[in-house]
Amino acid sequence: MVGAGLAGMRAAIEAARSGLDVAIVSKIYPVRSHSVAAQGGINAAMKATDSWEAHMFDTVKGSDYLGDQDAIEVMCRQAPSDILELEKMGAVFSRDSEGNIAQRPFGGAGYPRTCYLADRTGHGMLHVMYEQLLKHGVFIYDEWHVLKLVVEDGSARGLIAIELDTGKLHRLHSKSVIIATGGYGRVYRTTTNALSSTGDGMGLALDAGLALMDMEFVQFHPTVLARTGILMTEGARGEGGFLLNSKGERFMEKYAPKVKELASRDVVSRAEQTEIEEGRGVDGCVLLDLRHLGAEKIKSKLSQIRALAIDFAGVDPVTSPVPVKPGHHYSMGGIATDKDGRTAIPGLFTAGESACVSVHGANRLGGNSLLETIVFGRRAGTSASEYCKTTEAKPFPESALKDACHSVATILKREEGESIFAIKKGMNDAMEDFCGIFRNKDRLAKGYEKIKELRERYKKAALVDRSDYFNNELLHYLELGQMLDISECILLGAMNREESRGSHFRTDFPKRDDEKWLKHTLAFKENGEFRLDYRDVSVTKFKPEERKY
Ligand SMILES: Cc1cc2nc3c(=O)[nH]c(=O)nc-3n(C[C@H](O)[C@H](O)[C@H](O)COP(=O)(O)OP(=O)(O)OC[C@H]3O[C@@H](n4cnc5c(N)ncnc54)[C@H](O)[C@@H]3O)c2cc1C
Repeated sequence: MVGAGLAGMRAAIEAARSGLDVAIVSKIYPVRSHSVAAQGGINAAMKATDSWEAHMFDTVKGSDYLGDQDAIEVMCRQAPSDILELEKMGAVFSRDSEGNIAQRPFGGAGYPRTCYLADRTGHGMLHVMYEQLLKHGVFIYDEWHVLKLVVEDGSARGLIAIELDTGKLHRLHSKSVIIATGGYGRVYRTTTNALSSTGDGMGLALDAGLALMDMEFVQFHPTVLARTGILMTEGARGEGGFLLNSKGERFMEKYAPKVKELASRDVVSRAEQTEIEEGRGVDGCVLLDLRHLGAEKIKSKLSQIRALAIDFAGVDPVTSPVPVKPGHHYSMGGIATDKDGRTAIPGLFTAGESACVSVHGANRLGGNSLLETIVFGRRAGTSASEYCKTTEAKPFPESALKDACHSVATILKREEGESIFAIKKGMNDAMEDFCGIFRNKDRLAKGYEKIKELRERYKKAALVDRSDYFNNELLHYLELGQMLDISECILLGAMNREESRGSHFRTDFPKRDDEKWLKHTLAFKENGEFRLDYRDVSVTKFKPEERKY
């Protein structure tokens, strides 16, 4: 397993349960994985008055019909039993007055189906998963950073990782590898994502010859705190919060008359950005008003975001509205995989935010990502186990470790060159300014040129810290290489897709165009250059129609 977030741990537990010898590698201590920051909750049709079909319809509609309906069906059908399984493991959920798991309304959902633990759902889930990991005796290589997936004669052989505290490189020989390395949020300047969300697994997969799918679809969350980009959960609007402009108007009445603040994230983010750009913002933000919910509800159900607003914006939501704006939040795209986590390379599997199954299509609904991690984490664990039980171990190629040692030594030896931090800032600015919420041909082309230039500069960059022990600069260097590749895939996909769908909005092509573009984008890396291809979308139950909220 590469990655000890919810997807990685869930997969590892499933594989260990089937009697396999499983190890998990994580560049940070497992419970610091970004999953721990999830706030608002996890979706499942738990009640008799709700149904998996309704959950499926909301998800398909939310995806702007780009999600694969066969995969969405699997996720929505299996959601309730996976949540109950989590509860049996020991996960704590908030309760309703009858003692059932409480559920709150969320954006784009036609029923209040988001199960939650106050506004700390990810924290509750991840710690329980970690206990299970220990219980099942999974070996943990923590603070080991994977820098290469080893593939020989078309099948997975294991990986190469660097042990952080010594700087030593190790080969880990295995029959199969599951990539669950999370998202790439740090490509953008303003993001809710942890510093560790640098998309490593996606970059490693590209290098191994796999395709990344639908990378142009990048989710911007409507309510991130001014300056820091810290998330104010959608649960705040689910509990009844309003969004106001500088005139004190609830502007969402104009953009989504029926559900207002609870339209899907892409819709609300565009509405906010329009208000800000047309001069009705407040210091580059809009206001999230929770005051009418009352102190008791805020303190019991939204205590974490209250503390964050006080600490990082100097505002107490009990008495003042909170300044928020849209910010990068989630990667809809990822490593192309089937419903069982299989990639195009035998023995290589993927799950969680690093994967694109695709259940989110062009726009993810809040609460569906935590669900994806446990449903598809479990399924990837099962299929990797089956693969291991039916496949002979093959040798680890002799040269792989030597080659990796040589590349790392070359970087460490380089004495002269530009700082990687200037290059990283250039990438963050280019992606935010040219590949954000509103896109067009000229802006995207500028972003693409900039990233190409930065990739050239990256090849000649040098490190200040050239030591072995805990060399964080070396890790930043490796992460930056992956992020530049990912940026180029996002831009290429966005330039080519001449339509607007979900989170991908082209001001020069403002309509969705099903005839030409009801298809997935695949990006491949070949000899250092990127190539696009396309694949059909699975449409089973719901025919594409116009999306209105
Ligand atoms: C602030 C915030 C709030 C959110 N709230 C919600 C919510 O309420 N509901 C919801 O459904 N979704 C939510 N999401 C999204 C959801 O939390 C994530 O998509 C999901 O938790 C990702 O889980 P994961 O297991 O795929 O990856 P992560 O939890 O990101 O874990 C990635 C793992 O990969 C490891 N790793 C990465 N690179 C390497 C490498 N090179 N070598 C070794 N290890 C590596 C890391 O150490 C880490 O263990 C939220 C996201 C954020 C940022």
